[in-house]
Amino acid sequence: MPYAYDDQNIFAKILRGEIPNDTVLETAHCLAFRDLHPQAPVHVLVIPKGPYVTFDHFAAEASEAEIADFTRAIGEVCRMTGLRPGDGEDGYRVISNAGEAGLQEVPHLHMHILGGRVLGPLVAKPG
Ligand code: AMP
Repeated sequence: MPYAYDDQNIFAKILRGEIPNDTVLETAHCLAFRDLHPQAPVHVLVIPKGPYVTFDHFAAEASEAEIADFTRAIGEVCRMTGLRPGDGEDGYRVISNAGEAGLQEVPHLHMHILGGRVLGPLVAKPG
């Protein structure tokens, strides 16, 4: 099935400057900003500027430059926020939800970077 990107999603609007965001880092191909409803003391989202819905979409269609930039931006946010193991906060989790089963709310690829507390089990059973 071809990937269908909806350019009216909230992160597309952030990238177009139509709604504000709390930027942590901007690179050639990515934007990192604080989550509006943080689920940990540090909760940053890293998104590619390109129109990709999910991680698998990005992996299939992004350029080498976009993939390298995205990977490095995630690492840089971990460094900037002090979450790297040994740096103080002592660790983090990187999560990307995709589709209905993954409970993806915003259909623009984003990596959640979470830390600042012990995060608990990786996956909770639905209540
Ligand atoms: P997901 O469920 O993986 O699609 O996560 C979407 C995330 O986007 C949630 O953690 C929301 O709190 C966050 N979010 C939604 N709107 C905004 C916004 N305008 N600025 C920052 N984060 C947002």
